[in-house]
Amino acid sequence: MKIIFIGPPGSGKGTQAKRLAGRFEIPHISTGDILREAVADGTPLGMQAAPIMTAGALVPDDLMIGIINDRLAKSDAQRGFILDGFPRTVVQAEKLDTIVGNGNDTLRVLQLLVPDDAIVRRITLRRTCAQCGAIYHLENNPPASDRVCDRCGAEVIARPDDNEEAVRKRLEAFHRQTLPVATYYKAKSILREVDGIGPVDEVFERIEKSLQ
Ligand SMILES: [Zn+2]
Repeated sequence: MKIIFIGPPGSGKGTQAKRLAGRFEIPHISTGDILREAVADGTPLGMQAAPIMTAGALVPDDLMIGIINDRLAKSDAQRGFILDGFPRTVVQAEKLDTIVGNGNDTLRVLQLLVPDDAIVRRITLRRTCAQCGAIYHLENNPPASDRVCDRCGAEVIARPDDNEEAVRKRLEAFHRQTLPVATYYKAKSILREVDGIGPVDEVFERIEKSLQ
């Protein structure tokens, strides 16, 4: 079960990917995590990536694909994996083909579909506890008492980058860069589109069905 998971920021992709990984007992490989891992382990590629990440720049495709290659070679990924956040560009997708093989008979690409307006609504109404990190939503899951965390009593706030302008900017970058990746896999007939609107359980059911 080799899965590439595509979805806009704020679509709930991370949550679903984690769950799917548990269901199939395969590792959930998110780009951010493996970059941090490679740096922490002091692998040769990790050492190359470290200063680039510290500078806040994007890790170049060749380096990134090397790090992914190392990760997919580990024993826990032999039964399968879920890639989350990679490939981000068509160039990366083409390079990934050279690792997972061009036959692609076991590779499946899931695209979680959530309209921009729904994501903006989801994120701008999100509130986070500054102390314990609990997450609320003013409409679907508000704290019992206004602006006070149910768990620890600290103040519940909107994160500075959860405003509409910032969210739209992140979505724009996603559409520009990553939608061509979905198109790339669609042309190979391995793309499965899943409606990402609704409760987490329902969306997960749709994902499972799409993989059958
Ligand atoms: Zn709290």
